[in-house]
Amino acid sequence: MLEGFSDSWRHVLLAGALIAVTCRPVCAAENYAEDTRSLLHTVVTVKAYGKRASEALEAAYAEMKRVNDLLNNYDPKSEISAVNTHAGTGRVGISSETAAALKFAKHYGTVTGGAFDVTIGPLLRLWGFAAEVPGLQGAEPDSRAIEDARECVDFRAIEIVRTGDAGKTGYRAGLPRKGMWIDVGAFSKGYVADKGMAVFEKFGIHHALIAAGGTICTMGEKQDTASPWTIGIRHPRKDQTFMTVLELKNMSVSTSGDYERFYRSRGKRRTHIIDPRTGRPVSHTQSVTVLAPDGRTSDALSTALFVLGAEKGTALVDSLEGVESLIVTSSGKIVFSADWPQRTVVY
Ligand code: AMP
Ligand code: MG
Repeated sequence: MLEGFSDSWRHVLLAGALIAVTCRPVCAAENYAEDTRSLLHTVVTVKAYGKRASEALEAAYAEMKRVNDLLNNYDPKSEISAVNTHAGTGRVGISSETAAALKFAKHYGTVTGGAFDVTIGPLLRLWGFAAEVPGLQGAEPDSRAIEDARECVDFRAIEIVRTGDAGKTGYRAGLPRKGMWIDVGAFSKGYVADKGMAVFEKFGIHHALIAAGGTICTMGEKQDTASPWTIGIRHPRKDQTFMTVLELKNMSVSTSGDYERFYRSRGKRRTHIIDPRTGRPVSHTQSVTVLAPDGRTSDALSTALFVLGAEKGTALVDSLEGVESLIVTSSGKIVFSADWPQRTVVY
């Protein structure tokens, strides 16, 4: 079944891990531009059709870098890092973009009943996921250490206040307790990709794609062939193999997988997505793919559904407008939301 994909696979972008990109270093033809660059701790591919495609591509990359520089919690100069390092000591000034990103994260914390929690940082550190290469230095954390870290995880506690008079509005944000730590990794790629897509609109471009790691945003269809963008969804247990192929137009897709960042301990796979309610890495799910109108929503929900699991995650998606999901459980069972478009799936 998968052989059918192999002829065209060089033209398929993979959500979940970008293993196939058709790009030359910089590729620009009349009315078309494409490139792949290192950004957001991953590779970001941009494709755009239109009269000013090359100019728009440069502007989209610049905008993505600008917004990522505000949000990146691994960059000590970012606004989120300033909020983190001042945890327990006061609020710091932030841009309207960072304020909007934090409000977005708090909103999805509420929508998911706390499964999505952007203050997950202390638990990520405890389980050895704050380092470049994930892993533990010694034994696994005990219940006491997990409970102590959990006390510092609560998205509701993030303070965002508006300051100044009309025309000179600003924002300040803070974390009330020392040890709290915001980690934007669950939605920042989608958030930043959406900012890149917004640039295309300003340039009058209506056919474009941005692929940032596990999130791919599309606008219109491929203009040259008038066909939808083709996105392969990675099989969670077979590297370089598609589980399914989606055709997208004006939609975003994100995949969260237990194969992305993990290590083995006590004979178990410990993956980078942590259930804030138990304080432990999730083990009931292999991968989650979410379709949504924009990248930040598909990205946030793919991580959230990974925590919620197949039953509760699918029920949540079915209650939301314009969102669909495909969840692979730890036993390899595939669970679709009510209107998931492509039910031909290989496992
Ligand atoms: P993604 O690949 O989009 O699913 O994002 C995974 C990243 O989200 C992890 O590497 C952490 O940085 C972060 N993360 C892990 N667990 C959670 C959680 N429960 N809520 C929010 N962010 C999380
Ligand atoms: Mg995500």
